[in-house]
Amino acid sequence: MKIEKKIAGFRERRKSLAGKRVGFVPTMGYLHDGHLSLIDRSIAENDMTVVSVFVNPTQFGPNEDLDRYPRDFQRDRELLENRGVDLVFSPDSQEMYGPDYRTYVQVEELGKVLCGKSRPTHFRGVATVVLKLFNIIRPDGAYFGQKDAQQAVIVKRMCRDLNLGIDIRVCPIVRDSDGLALSSRNRYLDKKEREAARALPGSLKKARSLIESGWTDCARIIAEVTGELAKTSLVEIGYVAIVDLENLKPLKEIDPNHTLVAAAIRVGSTRLIDNFVLGEI
Ligand code: AMP
Repeated sequence: MKIEKKIAGFRERRKSLAGKRVGFVPTMGYLHDGHLSLIDRSIAENDMTVVSVFVNPTQFGPNEDLDRYPRDFQRDRELLENRGVDLVFSPDSQEMYGPDYRTYVQVEELGKVLCGKSRPTHFRGVATVVLKLFNIIRPDGAYFGQKDAQQAVIVKRMCRDLNLGIDIRVCPIVRDSDGLALSSRNRYLDKKEREAARALPGSLKKARSLIESGWTDCARIIAEVTGELAKTSLVEIGYVAIVDLENLKPLKEIDPNHTLVAAAIRVGSTRLIDNFVLGEI
């Protein structure tokens, strides 16, 4: 496995991959089985797999956790090597954003709803870094987790709108045995908070079973999920939303083939998100 920290160096190596199908998995490191599931899928579907490890500063707001975001490159490196990754791109911030950086990508409207309401510049940072990484890596396919459903929807739309010609594959959410979706941020949770956090997948499971039992009125389902979350005292609700899977606009009635049910909570200082979909992103 090769590790490249410089854009020019990566471009040089990329030349030798001409004619091969290249799969790409962007990450912020501190890898877990969720990341590894994307990597396994890329390895299965491509000739070469490139993984980036880059904690992207432009997707963090001024009061967010950029400085304390967990990092352990040595551990990541071992996991990636054992998994069979071919090439790792791990630039630093200076390499990605020069001192006079000015250009951003905005996927209008989609970045302002759901998580975008409380994180107004987050998806601008995500779209920008993903486009930059796509331009450097030039993959044929790229792999994203449904865990960050809004991110996946936005990246798909950016690819379509800007004619990038990259296949975006969205992979299922990998969960811990207690139901909590794996996330690098779960390590911030102490024991009590971790227990409280289980209310998030629990409440979404309830929503799913209500839908399966025939409920279609989104307002009623949202009220049930909210009520379920409110039972846990450590949980502060960010949002509970039921939206169209493509334009992220609120739905009145469940569409069995095109619905995203998403929620965000805060437990202590940790923000957690989760969702399920009816249909495919
Ligand atoms: P991150 O390092 O948090 O930026 O995540 C990198 C990629 O891994 C994103 O496409 C995430 O959606 C995906 N990912 C993170 N957690 C999970 C999970 N629990 N299951 C599946 N994919 C995930």
